[in-house]
Amino acid sequence: MIRYALTCRGCSHRFDGWFRSSADFDAQGAKGLLACPVCDGHAVEKALMSPAVAAASEPAPVRGGAVTIAPAGEAAALYRQLQEMARKVRSEGTYVGGAFAEEARRIHYGEAEGRPIYGEASAPEVRGLLEEGIHALPLPPLPEDKN
Ligand SMILES: [Zn+2]
Repeated sequence: MIRYALTCRGCSHRFDGWFRSSADFDAQGAKGLLACPVCDGHAVEKALMSPAVAAASEPAPVRGGAVTIAPAGEAAALYRQLQEMARKVRSEGTYVGGAFAEEARRIHYGEAEGRPIYGEASAPEVRGLLEEGIHALPLPPLPEDKN
């Protein structure tokens, strides 16, 4: 059995459905057997699952808590891994500038092609995305940026 995250085009309701296979999903859709539990609409499609990665140009200020990066050891190794990820995202992702939050939403709701993107977003924008279940991560600055 495969679980698909589904979305209704009619009312934008999101729900899960279980299918024997991808072909089973297609067959049920073709026969009009897929229906939205909210509006009973048949324009049901698979929700796009796509990674959306945000790069904050400045680290978001942390209030009410302290964050430290140890100069050596695990924290430093983790930070280097994040920098590696940032490098990968920047080389393979599409830069969308200040339109990040908007574009991440369009991808999440299937209105734009699913692809990795990066750009700038404010802390409230990122919080809004996370609350909607859209994955966005702040990326650390890279050493080469300082040149
Ligand atoms: Zn619906």
